[in-house]
Parts: sequence; structure tokens; C-alpha cells
Amino acid sequence: MSLIPSTSTALVARHWPGNRWIRGERAGTFILECMALTLTRSRELQLRAEQLLPGGVDSPVRAFRAVGGDPPFVKRAEGAYLFDEDGNQYLDLFGSWGPMILGHAFPPVVEAIQQAAARGASFGASTAAEGDLAELVQRCFPVVEKLRFVSSGTEACMSAIRLARGFTGRKFVIKFEGCYHGHSDAMLVKAGSGVATLGIPGSAGVPEETVMHTLALPFNDLEVVRAAFAARPEEIACVIVEPVVGNAGTILPAAGYLEGLREITTEFGALLIVDEVMTGFRLSLGGAQQLYGIKPDLTTLGKIVGGGLPCGAFGGRADVMDYLAPLGPVYQAGTLSGNPLAMAAGIAMLSHLIAHEDEVYSGLEKTTRAIAEGVAAVAREAGVALTTNRVGSMFTWFFTGDAVTDFASAAASDTAAFGRFHRAMLEAGVWLPASQFEAAFISTAHGKAEIAAVVEAARGALIG
Ligand SMILES: *Cc1c(COP(=O)(O)O)cnc(C)c1O
Repeated sequence: MSLIPSTSTALVARHWPGNRWIRGERAGTFILECMALTLTRSRELQLRAEQLLPGGVDSPVRAFRAVGGDPPFVKRAEGAYLFDEDGNQYLDLFGSWGPMILGHAFPPVVEAIQQAAARGASFGASTAAEGDLAELVQRCFPVVEKLRFVSSGTEACMSAIRLARGFTGRKFVIKFEGCYHGHSDAMLVKAGSGVATLGIPGSAGVPEETVMHTLALPFNDLEVVRAAFAARPEEIACVIVEPVVGNAGTILPAAGYLEGLREITTEFGALLIVDEVMTGFRLSLGGAQQLYGIKPDLTTLGKIVGGGLPCGAFGGRADVMDYLAPLGPVYQAGTLSGNPLAMAAGIAMLSHLIAHEDEVYSGLEKTTRAIAEGVAAVAREAGVALTTNRVGSMFTWFFTGDAVTDFASAAASDTAAFGRFHRAMLEAGVWLPASQFEAAFISTAHGKAEIAAVVEAARGALIG
């Protein structure tokens, strides 16, 4: 059992059945008595899963190895809350790693999926829905003259890179340390130590030959990019970048950085691929490129675009996209690409975002600022070194007193302290992303009660 002091009982108490408020010593103060987290059923399910799936999971971070403790097994979710197999309720701060910008089981999305499912799950032939979703994407991302749907962000990035290589007839690709572009072989390059060094495989099973054309450079440093181009002026096909890094924790681009990448790639005839799998429809309707005013040649999308179903997309300049088969020589395909259920979910999601753009994004900004700054204030009070990086509804609390501007500074965080914080927050009913190097996300279903709940839980976790 853990005790969380509070002055805002009405806001938080109703969310945790089994929790109750007791009066504090000082008049007008209250203490939230939290039942200890019981994960008996989840533990049983984890043990069974470990017999069947490596690590018991289908994606490594779900195993909680980075933070320790048992991962709860989710039974269902609604709005801002996750419910596990043991009957525990959690305030969700990771939103399925990004897609759930309107909260879980958002009724119009649920309905759209149900109706599409009744018509048939997959046809392997074209449907009107692909054009409908493509038009919505184009309204949000005007530079996307043509696009193609795939089934994941990994596929979107992998295909965009193949296309850039096919279009330019060049082999080298620049990516940045700490940026994640899915798990295709060429992108699994670890944070390299030297500037402009050739790629080092970041995973067993990826031969050096496969990544020898991947150049991993530090983020937020234009000089190393210039130097790489100067060394290979006619060999670099593209630069791929997370415009706001989310996969090393949240890291903002320095002023002029993205513009600089645009200038350098244009100067050397390379394509700029902005990977908006995480930031697209998240930071604004038109993603980071709208927020920072940059026009990439190609854009990759995922997460929100499929409304929570497996879906990704890549698109951009028509002359580049027309290099794809069947028009051009670059092969790319997918049995389930443009899947009717994913299209329906994406259409419902984007239609809502477009129709309610102002209130959605101003609301997300307000709520997230209150949560991020509320916890930062608690950390200051507790004397805990915490750096908060945030853009809109995407943020990370780094356990370090220093600014985090690239992968090296993110990696200097106290990951053990993050792990303890993660567990204490989970015990108090708040589910953070299970790694220091991941972004947290807020949805439109998060409101005043949730702001108060997160800040109170952090108070309990950091001050006690
Ligand atoms: C999540 C993510 C990917 C990979 O998408 P998957 O759907 O997990 O394959 C690629 N790029 C970025 C920026 C991401 O956040």
C-alpha cells in the first residue's frame, strides 16, 4: 500500500476502485491510500506467454526489462484509462506509443471498424476507402502529392528509403543517432561514436555489408551533415530524420536545424525524408513539418494514420512517387496494404481531427503543459534532477539535470531512477512508457482530473 498526500480529493479518488481518501494531519489535507498493485493474473499470463513468445512479448519494450517489475496484461481500455486482467485501472500516459490521440475506444473509430469488418476484412483489391484516406492525409500534408499505404511505420520508412535510392541512383543514407525508423536492416544502426563513421550493426543478424551504406550522425549538428556530404557529394541518396526525436525520449530540433537539413539535401541533390510516424497528426494536424515550416521530399506516416490499426504510409513529390511499381522500377507491395479496417479507422480518426483541429490541438497543448510542468515542479520541490522536453502532447521527463539535445545527452540520464519512478507511478495507477528513451503521449480524453492525478502520483513517487 502506498500513501499519496493531496488537496484535491474530488478529482482523483473516483478513478481507483479500492483506493480511499483519509484525512491528513493538517486541516483540509487528504491522503490517498492506494491498494498495492496486485498482478497475480498478469504474472500467470506472462509466464504462459514466455513459453510461447520470446520474452513473452511481440515487441521488446513491453516486457518491462528496462524498468523492472511485472508488466500488467491489458484487458481493455477506454478514454484515458487502461484496465488490466487483475482489475487494476491505470491512467495511460503512453497511448499505445502514439496512435491514441483521441483516447482509447473512441466511439466513431470503434463504429467505423465494426462497420468495415461486417463488409469483409480484406479483399486484396482496391477500395474507395484508400482514396478517401489519401485525400484526408493530403489535406493535412500538402507536400504529399501522392502516397502509398503500408501496414507499419517500419514498412513506410524502409520503402521510402528504397524509393530514394532508386530515384537518385545513389547508395548512402544518412540517419541520426537515437532516431528510430523501424526495424528494417539498414536502419538498425546503433549510435556511432565517431563523426560520419560507417554504420555499425545495432542488432545481431544484420551483416555489416547491409549497413555499410548507412551513415549514423549525431542529431542537431549540421556541420557533421555538411562534412558527410562534402566527403560523398554524389553518393548520398537521402537524409532521414525524426523532426522531433521521440525514440530516444523527446528531443527537440535546434533552431534552424531542420531548415539546414533541407538546404543541404537540396544543394547536393539528395532527398529529405521526414519521418513523421510519431509526430504526424500529433504535434499539429500537419505534423512537425507544419509546425517548423519545412517541406520534405518524402514523408513517412504511421501510428495515428491508422487509428490504432496496423497502417503506415509514405508519400511526397509525385515525380519521386511515380518511380514506384507499377509505374516505375522500384518494387514495393503488400497483401494487406490499404486494409479496409485500417482505412476505416484512419478515416474516422483524421476526419475528427480535421473537424475539431483548433480545440483538439489547443486542448492537448494545455493539458500536456499542465502535466509536464506540474511534475517538473514536484521534482524541483523534491530536489530531483529532472529535465522536461516537450512539444505539444509529446514529452519526456529525463532524469538528468543537464539539457538533452541529442542521443549522448539523453543517454546520460539516470535510467535506474527512471525505473524506480516508473514503478512508483504504476503502483499509484499511472502507466508511463516503460523506458527512459521513449516519449509519453497525452490524448484528448485527458482532462483536469487526469492532470491532478498524475501530479499527485508524482508527488507520492518523488517526495513520498
Ligand atoms: C514507431 C516508429 C516507427 C516504426 O513504426 P512501426 O509501426 O512500429 O513499425 C518508425 N519511425 C518512427 C519515428 C516511429 O516512432
